[in-house]
Amino acid sequence: MDVVNFLKDCLFPFFCVSCGREGEWWCKDCRKEIKLFEVKGTSFQKATALFSYSDNPPLEKLIREFKYNYVQNISDLWKEILSEARLVFSSDIVFVPVPLHEKRLRARGFNQAEILSRILSDIYHRPQIGNNLCRTKATLQQAGMTREERLKNILGAFAWVGDLKAPKHVVLVDDVFTTGATMEECAKVLRHHGAEHIEALVLAHG
Ligand SMILES: [Zn+2]
Repeated sequence: MDVVNFLKDCLFPFFCVSCGREGEWWCKDCRKEIKLFEVKGTSFQKATALFSYSDNPPLEKLIREFKYNYVQNISDLWKEILSEARLVFSSDIVFVPVPLHEKRLRARGFNQAEILSRILSDIYHRPQIGNNLCRTKATLQQAGMTREERLKNILGAFAWVGDLKAPKHVVLVDDVFTTGATMEECAKVLRHHGAEHIEALVLAHG
């Protein structure tokens, strides 16, 4: 551990979300083995989740922390988990994060999907394209909505901008997959702009 990180950990200690062990967000002893969980979609081929909330309830709390109370070093945990998952991608894939609306991005200061996509790009040596898929409509928070309500809420929320065509083989990245409404809508836009094979990857299925 370098001096800066050592000082940071002294000033802002953090503890395992399950057992309380200091210096870990979610220690190896507490998290169950990664069992890749696959869901089929209509506009995309498949969505893969590393964990399900029902098997790993503490993850929900961690993802909430990551989203709303961002602390840089949670990213280290995601990096560890995404490496441990030993995901297999074909050689032509490009990671595309699910975008946030500009207003929400400004308020939060970062897009959690973009951070995950960057980590994946580093680990698996595949490019990521973070600026062409945009959220053009500020949608309502989807928590508590039914699938139908979510589909209506998210309809027409995304656009592909710029001269670049969408990559042929895309892996859409987000933190959580609930009903899949967001992924479906993103996939429709990507397909319209030239993507042929679209998969989704998320930390958790909840
Ligand atoms: Zn623990």
